[in-house]
Amino acid sequence: MGAVELARQRLSGAPLEALAVAAYRIPTDTPESDGTLEWSATTLVTAQVRAGGASGFGYTYASRAAAMVIADTLAPAIEGREALDTAARWLDMVRAVRNIGRPGIASMAIAAVDTALWDLKAKALGVPLVLLLGAFRDAIPVYGSGGFTSYLRERLSEQLGAWADEGMRSVKMKVGRAPQDDPARVRAARRAIGDCQLFVDANGAYTRKQALAEAAAFAELGVTWFEEPVSSDDLEGLRLLRDQGPAGMAIAAGEYGHDGYYFRRMLEAGAVDVLQADATRCAGVTGFMEAAALCAAYGVPLSSHCAPSLHLPLMCAARPAVHLEYFHDHVRIEQMLFDGFVPARSGQMAPDRSRPGLGIELKAKDAERFRC
Ligand SMILES: [Mg+2]
Repeated sequence: MGAVELARQRLSGAPLEALAVAAYRIPTDTPESDGTLEWSATTLVTAQVRAGGASGFGYTYASRAAAMVIADTLAPAIEGREALDTAARWLDMVRAVRNIGRPGIASMAIAAVDTALWDLKAKALGVPLVLLLGAFRDAIPVYGSGGFTSYLRERLSEQLGAWADEGMRSVKMKVGRAPQDDPARVRAARRAIGDCQLFVDANGAYTRKQALAEAAAFAELGVTWFEEPVSSDDLEGLRLLRDQGPAGMAIAAGEYGHDGYYFRRMLEAGAVDVLQADATRCAGVTGFMEAAALCAAYGVPLSSHCAPSLHLPLMCAARPAVHLEYFHDHVRIEQMLFDGFVPARSGQMAPDRSRPGLGIELKAKDAERFRC
């Protein structure tokens, strides 16, 4: 059977036959911390769907409770229904979680399944996901992200310096755990990266006035991006930083956005210069492209948070996209466990258009030892 015939057959109806889920707990290479959290492992939750002779893979970084939500609440809501109608299945899932709460774990669970459905649809059609979404660009610039507050000065300089040497135009480090140490850490990073742009992320560690003072000090050291200077729930505080902070310094937030209303509130408040969104949290490909549309409507640039393999095709299709976060933990996990992982080259990532769908598959055997 030819590819077109096969696709036509699949398009004539492909009820969702199976939805399988798994969770893996992967230890970090060293203990990690930022301004407000410490961790030593990352949990990956995966979803595999099958319909019409095709299969799809999706994932999220979440609590393993998300796996239970998928099995108990999402699967019954979509099994047996048309798998290629991604928008309708997304709405089925959003409706199904009404009484357990959409933001948080439920939204992350939807993200994994929605992504798997998009992967399946693209594979059924025999095209890469970026082509199905409608590519806007061939590649997306990335920024190296790590620089944890748990790192000794040498490790910090080595990690950020290596990304700069690879050709990345910007790198990001964590600040805010011990504010008195920030200037020396930022200075060390600055020395290690040459003329590369330096981003800092406080993960909401500072108070408003403290953040304003820090912003001025960081600006002296050439910092051009201040992420979550105050809590991302403090929209007025973010707005204050945006209006009163140094010229040339972007205020960014949005990584905890789980639905379109969250992003709309943040944009309506004029709280950010660049909106961040995370498809593994904001309900998958469908939710992320909605965030991208909101950014376009508000004229605000979009930067993706974490999960580089998932965001690669989305950011190449999202018009307001400016850069993708090449996050140390997730790069390490995706390189280790995803067949088809595309590493950054010369400061950017480009989807492999020879692979249909999302372009990645879980290396189930290698992942098995992490299963939880
Ligand atoms: Mg952040």
